[in-house]
Amino acid sequence: MLGKTHAGTGWCAGLALAPLLGAHTLPQAVVVAAVTAGSALVPDLDHPGSRASRLVGPLTGLLSVVARGASRGLYQLTKGPRDEPVSGQHRHATHTLAFAALLGWWINWATGSMGTWAVGVVLAFAVLLAVNALGDWLAVVVALVGLLWLANGTLVRELSVLAGWIGWAVGAGCLVHCLGDALTRSGCPFLWPVPIRGETWYEVRLPALLRFRTGGPVERLLIWPFCVVGGVLLLPGMWPALAAWVG
Ligand SMILES: [Zn+2]
Repeated sequence: MLGKTHAGTGWCAGLALAPLLGAHTLPQAVVVAAVTAGSALVPDLDHPGSRASRLVGPLTGLLSVVARGASRGLYQLTKGPRDEPVSGQHRHATHTLAFAALLGWWINWATGSMGTWAVGVVLAFAVLLAVNALGDWLAVVVALVGLLWLANGTLVRELSVLAGWIGWAVGAGCLVHCLGDALTRSGCPFLWPVPIRGETWYEVRLPALLRFRTGGPVERLLIWPFCVVGGVLLLPGMWPALAAWVG
C-alpha cells in the first residue's frame, strides 16, 4: 500500500477509536487521528526509501538501519521450516501485532513517567509523518487546535491528558498499516510468532481474486476515495450537522 493510503486509513481508524480512547471533543479527536495517521507509516521504517525512513534525514535513516538489522536478526532466529529464503528485513518484525503492542506499551510507559514533554515528542514525530503523507492542510489543522488550547489556557492540561495512553493510538496506527499490507498481493506476516503451515512468518493475505497491487487502480480509485469520505464523516459531530443540514 502507498504511504498516503496507509496514513488515510490510519486517520479514519483514529477518528473511529478516539471516543474509546477518551477523546470526546473535535480537537482531541483530530489530534488522536493525526497520531494514528502518522503511526500508520512507522512500520515501513524497515524500508530505506519509505517516507518514515527519509523524514528527518540521518535521524530516521539511523532508525531505519536499526529496524532492518533487528528485523533481519529476528527473522533468522525464528523462521519456520517453510518460511521463504528471504532476508527478513522489509515487511517482517515491524509489520507484526507484537511490534504494534510493544511500541504502544513502551510509549505509554515513557509518556506516563516523563510527562508532557514526552507527549510533545511523540505528537511532533507522528504529525510530521502524517503531514508528509497527507499534505500541509493537516499541519494547519493541528496548529489551529494548538492555538485554540493555548488561547483557552488548556494546552499543558490537554497534552498531559494524553500521557500514559497515547501509545495505544500509535499501536493502532501500526496495526492498521499491517492490515493494509495484508490486502495487497505480498500480504503481511502480522501474526508472528504464531506458526501457520510450517511458517512462523506466514503472510496473511486476501484470497487471490481480491488482492490488489500497491499503487494500482483499486487503491487509487476505490480505497483512497473511501478514506477521504470516511475521514470527513467520522469527525465527531459530523452526523448531527449533516442531519440538521439535510432536514
Ligand atoms: Zn508496509
